Amino acid sequence: MSDCLFCKMANGEINPDVVYEDDKILAFRDINPKAPVHILVIPKLHITTLNELDNTNLAGLLLKTVVQLAIQENISESGYRTIINCNSDGGQEVYHLHLHLLGGKKIIAPLA
Ligand code: 5GP
Ligand code: ZN
Repeated sequence: MSDCLFCKMANGEINPDVVYEDDKILAFRDINPKAPVHILVIPKLHITTLNELDNTNLAGLLLKTVVQLAIQENISESGYRTIINCNSDGGQEVYHLHLHLLGGKKIIAPLA
């Protein structure tokens, strides 16, 4: 989608702080981190919300990437939180599916 911020990251028009990339997935640091580690994991394919995720293989790859990044960031043992915000009441601001990976401190408050 041409006017989607995360699509622009996926196609290289905008260059975030990338921590992982393959042909299907991009992961980058959140611009407004809520924790010492705050990474967003996105499918390169435009999927608007979790409601539109019907590819179970891709769902597994996204989750596997979160775990790999938690290990890479050295927070897999101390712990982390993974969040997917869906639509308005879920607090979704960017309408391209993304998984938040938060860690590096005790995560108490929910992600507002
Ligand atoms: P949501 O509320 O949609 O689940 O989360 C969107 C996230 O995207 C927020 O945590 C916000 O800080 C992050 N974000 C918004 N714009 C940018 C940007 O231009 N670059 C990066 N790296 N993160 C962004
Ligand atoms: Zn998009």
